[in-house]
Amino acid sequence: MERIQRADALKDGHAAVTPPPQPLTPPAAASTLPPVSEAPPTTSPLPRIGLLTAARAQHPVLDVSLPCDPPLADHPQPAVQHFAARYAPSFFLDVGTACPLHCVYCSVVRGADDKDVRMEAREHLYMRMADAESVGVRKLTFIGGEPASRTDFLHLADVAHAMGFQDLILATKSVKLARPAFVAQLREHHVSMVHLSLDSFDPDVLAVLLASRTAPKLLLAGLHELLAQQVELFLFAVLTQHNLAGLDDYVRRLADLQQRYGRPMTAVVSPLKVQSRADKNRETLVPRMADLAHAVARAVDLAQTLNVTLIHKAVPPCLLPQHGDWALERYLTEARIDLENGQRLPSAANPYLAKSAACASCAATAVCPGVDAAYADWQGWAEFSPLT
Ligand code: SF4
Repeated sequence: MERIQRADALKDGHAAVTPPPQPLTPPAAASTLPPVSEAPPTTSPLPRIGLLTAARAQHPVLDVSLPCDPPLADHPQPAVQHFAARYAPSFFLDVGTACPLHCVYCSVVRGADDKDVRMEAREHLYMRMADAESVGVRKLTFIGGEPASRTDFLHLADVAHAMGFQDLILATKSVKLARPAFVAQLREHHVSMVHLSLDSFDPDVLAVLLASRTAPKLLLAGLHELLAQQVELFLFAVLTQHNLAGLDDYVRRLADLQQRYGRPMTAVVSPLKVQSRADKNRETLVPRMADLAHAVARAVDLAQTLNVTLIHKAVPPCLLPQHGDWALERYLTEARIDLENGQRLPSAANPYLAKSAACASCAATAVCPGVDAAYADWQGWAEFSPLT
C-alpha cells in the first residue's frame, strides 16, 4: 500500500502532501517478544533477542497503516469500514524488489537500468518484525517485488506467526497461486489474507499489462484456487489505458464470483504510480486522471447495484466529489510510531505526491491524498480545481 505522507517543503511550485491531522494516541502497550525457546515451528531458528534489540536503534520509527477513528467519510460505508478494520493496524514488511514478472506498469524502483534488484536479508526482516511486535502491531503485510518468489517466504511467515502476529497478509501476483499445493501451504504457514494484484479478468488485457502470454491464465487460475480453498482475499487493480474501459466488466466479474463462491468480494482500484517502468511507458499506459475518475465513479455506482465492494484510492476528491465515501484514505491513514516511546507521529514527507498552490484553498484538502507528482509535472494541474 502506498504511503500518504506529510510534506513540509515546496517543490517546483507545488508542495508535497500534508495529511489531515490525526490525534496522537499511543499504540497498545508494548508486548514481549516470545522467548526463543517457546517459539517456532520453523525450519531454522528465530533471531536472537540481542540482535533484535540492537536493530531497534537503527530503526527508531515504524511506518504503519491505521484505521481512521472515526472515518473521515461523510457517510461511512460499513463494507469499507470492515475492510479497513480487517487490514489495519498493520505494517508493511518490504522483502525486496525481486519479481519474476515484468509488468509494463511496475513502479518498483530497481535502478536506472531496471536491473538493480534488492533482496532484504532475513536478519533485517526479523528486526523489522520485532520492531512492530514491540509496539503492539499485530498485522503484517508482506510486500515486494514479489514476496512469494522468495525461497524462504514460508519460513518468514512461520517466524512472523511465532512472534505473535495475528494476521499475515501477502501482497502478491504470483503465478504459483495456480498450484493447489502452494495455496494449501500458505494456509499451513499462517498466511491469513491475500491481497491479489489483478488488473483485469480479460487474459488479453492482462497479457499486455504483464508482458506475458502465460502468466494471465495462471493468475486467473490462482484467483479461483484461493477462492476454492477459502482463503480470505481482496483484489487490487491499477488503472491504465488498457483496462480502464473494462472497469464495469471487472465489477460484473466480481459479482459473478461473489455469487459462485458465496462470499463477499472486495476490490481496490487506484491510479498508477508514474515512476520506474510505468514512467518509461507512460504515453501508452497512463490515462488522464479525469477519465480515470469518470470510470471509477461509474464503476462504484455499478458495484453498489450489484452488492459488491469497490473502493478507490489516490483519486483526488475534486475529480470524484460524489464518491468520497468509497475513498480508502477516509478510512485508513499512514503514520509512524516512535519505537522508543510508542508515541504515534505523523507520517513523513512523500515526494511522490503533491498539491498545487491552489489546493490550499480547496475545501477537501484535508482529506485529499494529493496528485502523483510525476503526473502533475507531465500533465499539469488543469484537471484539478479546488472544491468550495
Ligand atoms: S484541488 Fe483537487 S488535488 Fe487539490 S486539494 Fe482539492 S481535491 Fe486535492
